[in-house]
Amino acid sequence: MMTPATVPTSHKLRVNGLMRRGLEALDPSRPIAFFCECGSAGCSQTVWLTRQEYDERKASPGWAALAPGHRRTEQRGWAAA
Ligand SMILES: [Zn+2]
Repeated sequence: MMTPATVPTSHKLRVNGLMRRGLEALDPSRPIAFFCECGSAGCSQTVWLTRQEYDERKASPGWAALAPGHRRTEQRGWAAA
């Protein structure tokens, strides 16, 4: 039986941060595939955001890049956006 690939959210957040920095030179209006930052380790969906959108939204406390219908489930002191 195949073991499904799991990616802990903390890892996804790190990868997103690295990706964001690595694409510094790109056009800020060009969409980038970020990992969905929901609490599911089995989720490997991508969320397309421009660097600008990612930066703007990331500045809001509690915001996470989420695929449609996905929710942040980690305990961070907030539940619904
Ligand atoms: Zn997800």
